[in-house]
Amino acid sequence: MNEEMDLIIKNGTIITASESYKADIAVKNGKIAMISENVNVKGERVVDAAGKLVLPGAIDTHVHFELPVGETVSADNYESGTRAAACGGTTMIIDFATQEKGMGLVETVHDRFKHIEPKACVDYSFHIAITDLTDKILDEFKTSAEFGIPSFKLYMVYENMMVDDGAIADALERSKETGVLIAVHAENPYLISRRIKKLLSQGKTSAWYHYESRPEFVEVDAVRRMVYLAKSLKAPLYIVHLASREGLDEIIKARDEGLEIYAETCPHYLNFTNEVYKREDGRNFICSPAIKGEDSRKALWEGLRRGYISTVATDHCPFKSYEKDWGKDDFTKTPNGCMGVENMYPYMLSEANKGQISFNKVVEVCSENVAKIFGCSPQKGTIAVGSDADIVIYDPKKKFIISKENMHSEVDYTIWENCEMTGYPIMTFSRGRLVYEEGSFRGEPGWGRFVKCYR
Ligand SMILES: [Zn+2]
Repeated sequence: MNEEMDLIIKNGTIITASESYKADIAVKNGKIAMISENVNVKGERVVDAAGKLVLPGAIDTHVHFELPVGETVSADNYESGTRAAACGGTTMIIDFATQEKGMGLVETVHDRFKHIEPKACVDYSFHIAITDLTDKILDEFKTSAEFGIPSFKLYMVYENMMVDDGAIADALERSKETGVLIAVHAENPYLISRRIKKLLSQGKTSAWYHYESRPEFVEVDAVRRMVYLAKSLKAPLYIVHLASREGLDEIIKARDEGLEIYAETCPHYLNFTNEVYKREDGRNFICSPAIKGEDSRKALWEGLRRGYISTVATDHCPFKSYEKDWGKDDFTKTPNGCMGVENMYPYMLSEANKGQISFNKVVEVCSENVAKIFGCSPQKGTIAVGSDADIVIYDPKKKFIISKENMHSEVDYTIWENCEMTGYPIMTFSRGRLVYEEGSFRGEPGWGRFVKCYR
């Protein structure tokens, strides 16, 4: 090959889900063109990655950008959200397009395209959150899958979004025939609403009672029922943001039986415990499911190590301080959601650096498994010839302390304030284009493209 390459990354250690090895990478037209011990061609840009790790960019399969919630909208729009993603080594995001009642599935996504297309700084796709599961919508499963969106989320909680178990069963049944994947937010809404009523009537209004209103068993009960439904209907199932040990036990049992059941967890469940709700800024941690106790936190790590938890994603859905403050005197008035899109990959890699888990495992759960489960592998999720050049260069020696000043989202605080990272990404490339370098965003809105997914 005499042709000049667009980018050459030399002397780095490549990490995929299954391997770690030293090699050079050459990129042409946004794709990885060559991987070899010594790439001997010219490159427009040559990066020396000696002493650095070279990883596929993360894929955050759970973000809520520009999500209308009550009278407000989640704080990061498609531009600031994907900018923050790029700066945290995440080169693709999968957002949720929420169906307005009566709206079709593909129609729902088209509506979101208008918002995301001019703003996206990294590649993207959508899951559709179905709020109104009619026969017409069931008939549209196949059309949506053919269009490139084969995953739908159903909420068991939240007014205006929640569907009943009957609808979930119908969706599971139809998913099996059409190859789509049903994802469920699993919590029992009836337990929550009665507990909230009781707590408020007793004057228990601080952030801690957010946890008390949604303790472990509120999630476990729902996970158990969903796993049972999926098993009975022989359909695959994806549980989003699993937070509890006993919920994980249900997943373990199901996977040991050979069922196609996936669980996702989030960095905030891996790093924090319900103790955060006792803090002065406890309401900033209000998200659902609530962050659980230390026993659950430890179990989630074990679940990742052993392969029972398939993915890590952020559920990035932050609100500004003044909005979180609405719940100062009543935790139910604080909008639910935390930030993480810029923190997930650095945090997980830092934990690998400290020996909690392997680097390969981090690539597996933050990137490769996501691409495989949602249908964009091997275009995304790995470093291989022919794959998109979504690449992160990681300096395992770099120290980084997270603060709101060095983050790139629109939010005026971070729950990750003062968390110390051992190692940090120093460059992110999206299809071969530099989008982040040493603390600075280098990308541009409108660069990111829609990635069609086929399961
Ligand atoms: Zn979510």
